[in-house]
Amino acid sequence: MTKQKKYLTKKNPLVKSKINHVSSHLRSRATKALACHAAKGDFVLQECSECQYISYPPRDRCPKCWGVLTWKHQKRHATLLAETTIHSTTDLYFREHVPWRIGTILLDVGPTAFAHLHSNVQVGDKLKIHVMLDRSGNPALFAMPRKVTVNMEEDYQYSQFTASPKGKRILISDGRTEIGQKLTYELIKAGAEIVYLGNADSNLRFKGQDSISKHKNVKIIPLNLLSTKSVKKCSQQYGGKVDILINTASYVRSGSIAFSGKITEMQNAIDLNVNGLTRLAKAFCPAMSARSGDEERPAIAFLDILSIFSLTSHPDYASLAASSAARLSIINSLRSEMSLSGLKVFSTLIGPIEDEWHQDIPPPKVTAEQIAKSVITSLKNGQELTLVGNVAKDIFEKWSANPLLTMRETIK
Ligand SMILES: [Zn+2]
Repeated sequence: MTKQKKYLTKKNPLVKSKINHVSSHLRSRATKALACHAAKGDFVLQECSECQYISYPPRDRCPKCWGVLTWKHQKRHATLLAETTIHSTTDLYFREHVPWRIGTILLDVGPTAFAHLHSNVQVGDKLKIHVMLDRSGNPALFAMPRKVTVNMEEDYQYSQFTASPKGKRILISDGRTEIGQKLTYELIKAGAEIVYLGNADSNLRFKGQDSISKHKNVKIIPLNLLSTKSVKKCSQQYGGKVDILINTASYVRSGSIAFSGKITEMQNAIDLNVNGLTRLAKAFCPAMSARSGDEERPAIAFLDILSIFSLTSHPDYASLAASSAARLSIINSLRSEMSLSGLKVFSTLIGPIEDEWHQDIPPPKVTAEQIAKSVITSLKNGQELTLVGNVAKDIFEKWSANPLLTMRETIK
């Protein structure tokens, strides 16, 4: 059983925040390709197309025959051969985290490798291996026990690779929506200490407000993403208290470019979906990244929920698709910027939602509950990229294989 972590209620204001050093960004192209798979939670290793040798760490050619290597899903099972604990290092990142256990593992599919170890694994144990992203976005192998145990996710080393909501203070940018509210309940169920729920217009009551405002772990706060002043004011008050920030705001209207859409709808979509996200990141990320190295209450993640049409465009939802494409670009830029500070940036790409704004689109559609559960899973697993619903998964798979063809397929 993993020892349960104690969460302090307040940070001592006299204690200087630690600078959060991150591991080196100098990685090969092959290692960065592994990071892309790790971001989705896939366990893939390179397999030689000539001699079928499975190798690790990532390389450009097969170490046995110089054949071409391709990424393939592999069995996660391994055995721990040897372990050691690092007590002293010149590496600035690990200096802050010693003692740190690592070990040599023998993967069932062949190669031996170094892996970070969960505190419950011992030499000789059968393991389940994950490829995970560290705070700067580099992939690393993490060895977990095969049997699930109590508080397993609270292991100190494992928690450095994830963003579990347990014991965290979380801000949701738009609490007026069903997604914002379902997510709030799921976060509390997952152990969040408090959820600050943004409300863009405190004079206008919203559906579900009465029941959610009575919850002891929820605080409804003024936050309007269309106003720079409102976002700044909110960040001055809550920027120092937020550990995880989730952007649920989205402006969705049907309409094409030439005939049915209006220019005002495009402007509204850009202002909330693009400028709103930028205002939020500009106001909160500096304060959050400054606290990402704190030992007791570190800020750990920024998560954005956006449409899968960001990848392909959509003729009947042109303003949503265009603003989502810009949103995805902003998130990618932000992820790169935040990787220097260790604040993790997550994206949840969703298919059309079962709501009044997507009536023109036939099923399958996703529900607010599905989205909320996927967000929790991605935070718990440290999975930077999550796809929700069959439409999003299907589009992403096709887009990964052939982006131009997938964009053309959206034309009627
Ligand atoms: Zn080979």
